[in-house]
Amino acid sequence: MSTFENVREMIEKVGETMKLTREEKDLLLKYKQIKKAELEVNGKKFLAWRILHNDALGPGKGGIRFHPDVSEDEIKSLAFWMTIKNSLAGLPYGGAKGGVRINPKELTRKELEQVSRAYIKSFHNVLGQDKDIPAPDVYTSPEIMGWMLDEFEKIKGRHEPGMITGKPTELGGCPIREAATSLGGFIVLKEFLRSEDIDKNITIAIQGFGNVGMNIALILQKNGFNVVAVSDSKGGVFNENGIDAEKVREVKQRTGSVINCDETKKITNEELLELDVDMLMLAAMENQITKENADKIRAKWIMELANGPVTSEACKILHEKEKIIIPDILANAGGVVASYFEWVQNKTGNVFETRYLEKRFEDMMTNSFSKVSKFSKENKIDMRTAAYVIAIERILKAEKARGNI
Ligand code: NAD
Repeated sequence: MSTFENVREMIEKVGETMKLTREEKDLLLKYKQIKKAELEVNGKKFLAWRILHNDALGPGKGGIRFHPDVSEDEIKSLAFWMTIKNSLAGLPYGGAKGGVRINPKELTRKELEQVSRAYIKSFHNVLGQDKDIPAPDVYTSPEIMGWMLDEFEKIKGRHEPGMITGKPTELGGCPIREAATSLGGFIVLKEFLRSEDIDKNITIAIQGFGNVGMNIALILQKNGFNVVAVSDSKGGVFNENGIDAEKVREVKQRTGSVINCDETKKITNEELLELDVDMLMLAAMENQITKENADKIRAKWIMELANGPVTSEACKILHEKEKIIIPDILANAGGVVASYFEWVQNKTGNVFETRYLEKRFEDMMTNSFSKVSKFSKENKIDMRTAAYVIAIERILKAEKARGNI
């Protein structure tokens, strides 16, 4: 099943719950713009995309991914999920996503900069603070956002920092952006535990040790939670007494992988997913729990920090086994909420105090969780379906107000 088929299936499922018409479902599956280009750097060619799914609520918003497996199907799905996520968070944005099919680990820093600039040369006409606003995603960083902003401003001959978020703070970036996805996930976790009356004495395994996985491991450790396993693309490490996230970070930075950590047992990524823990946090890539391994998952609760890590077929199996899934469009929305603050500051020229941003951030994430949790409990539906219903209602109201349906 392709990633986009999961999207299609979800629309059909939610469409049934919401009694949507065929016209409404087709509108939600329609793409506003699909742009594809071939970037050329030092004689090497790389396929690249920028896809705008829906802009009824505002300009497109969504990250840019550099990964060897990037495909149009994947970027389309990620753009769709951004539409839903932005709507659920109450942001004035539509959904978009971009990607380059490339292995950044094989590039020099100079080549990475050239690819980033080539991306903007190809897509600058469809980007802009009021059109479509990119941000970091898998294997892209604040530094890359800085190069992209610089290239955009050179081409346009003016400053427009709000055309991209997740930038270095020197270029108008927001101080809380870098760890925001993880912090948002942590706020959602606390609210979830509170709503289920569970104390923090739980065991947690985290798949993925990049921006999202590493930062949430550090936040959890700082707050006294017990993280017993982490992994990256090379494999994982486990210690039933808890791993030291700070130490794992240092080892990953020094050696390139978490697997070189002492005082831990090496495990495979498959083993990490199947550990007997209370909570499994997925912070790597999509399609990690599928119908092939869903049956083997022992964690009681699954938090999707990555986009689309549990396929729709796997969801059905997990729900039958009474597992609770905290869906990506709720759990990982912290990144785009902080990006929104960055964009507002850039557009207005205001600089807000970090304390004020942190407070608003906590309020927005808490509010999103309580909306979804309440709707899910009242209607006896899973949290993902509840989140979709809330998000889709808002999008369809905007489409109606525009006279599109
Ligand atoms: P990243 O590039 O910083 O890190 C990705 C991590 O996943 C790396 O440690 C990599 O080694 C690991 N990984 C890759 N394949 C793996 C596998 N098969 N098994 C285990 N580990 C694997 O990326 P990120 O920014 O942390 O993004 C992770 C996920 O979170 C993605 O799905 C992304 O779309 C989503 N997300 C990120 C943000 C953000 O602000 N960065 C916001 C929302 C959602």
